[in-house]
Amino acid sequence: MLKTIDPKARFSRRTLFKALGLGGAAALLPERSRAAALPVTGQELATFLDLSKCIGCGACVEACRVENAARYPEPKKPFPKMYPERVKVEDWSDKRAVDTRLTPYNWLFIQSAAVDGREVHIPRRCMHCQNPPCANLCPWGAAAREADGTVAINQDICLGGAKCRDVCPWSIPQRQTGAGLYLDLMPSLAGNGVMNKCRRCPERVAQGKMPACIEACPQGVQTMGPREEIVAQAKAMARNNGGFLYGLEENGGTNTLYLSPVPFEKLAAAVKTGPGQPGLAAVADVMGTSNRLAWAVLLAPLAGAAGALLSGARKMMGRKEDSNG
Ligand code: SF4
Ligand code: SF4
Ligand code: SF4
Repeated sequence: MLKTIDPKARFSRRTLFKALGLGGAAALLPERSRAAALPVTGQELATFLDLSKCIGCGACVEACRVENAARYPEPKKPFPKMYPERVKVEDWSDKRAVDTRLTPYNWLFIQSAAVDGREVHIPRRCMHCQNPPCANLCPWGAAAREADGTVAINQDICLGGAKCRDVCPWSIPQRQTGAGLYLDLMPSLAGNGVMNKCRRCPERVAQGKMPACIEACPQGVQTMGPREEIVAQAKAMARNNGGFLYGLEENGGTNTLYLSPVPFEKLAAAVKTGPGQPGLAAVADVMGTSNRLAWAVLLAPLAGAAGALLSGARKMMGRKEDSNG
């Protein structure tokens, strides 16, 4: 029997970690986990998550929030009125405490479900795809795939048009209106804020440290390392323990591999999905040729916005030249 777990049950554990503070959570870590280091090799890196170990405590979520607090958007209010008016305001700035889904202020959350009487907790964030549509199709070049396989959004360039979310099979990036470059350009015509998601802690990784969420885990759920080694480890564990893998084939391959003790088809049917709560269904390669027409249609409105932006910028330049005589 499949059922979705009440997130409030998990919240009480999160509240415990909040009460302890990060220092308290770290004190619970096994020595091995705290001492773990990441070799700085410049190779493509992948993360492996053994879901059979995850207790859904939320220490990783809390660690991510602390690590990235200084990078969260600080919007200016009131927000510019957008044209066309159907462009939605998305404002999470007064709901920063929400941790039961992805938001611009919460880049990792714990999805939980019970399958065949077994409770499974799944830390969810960007999958860091090998051929990421968010980066390939961002018209402004704000999203990019780094040499180590991390997919990151440059918030200094992002206009918040949310095409990265439209083309992501898990709709991962989250928009905050009223922040970012669009405010300095044509705030009513193009963009609508900045997009936010897991950036895989590049400052820590560059120093040979594990990402904050990995280091904080008291159960050693996550392992990160060179992709080839991680894939071999994941496959061997799935074979030896009879588990199920997700992320190896999805979207043509990702750098986030989940090992579950129950089939992902069952988990996919059991987890709660919706905005900020990605599903777990099998995902075909989004950048495959059969999808090209769909992308052309999806990007068409943006081409219009880009045209409006350029034409507005030209008019502004014209006015400036006129006034300069
Ligand atoms: S999961 Fe979505 S946001 Fe993350 S790299 Fe893949 S396409 Fe981009
Ligand atoms: S890798 Fe860093 S940014 Fe990504 S979920 Fe973990 S702590 Fe957050
Ligand atoms: S991954 Fe680790 S820290 Fe995160 S919820 Fe699971 S057990 Fe807790």
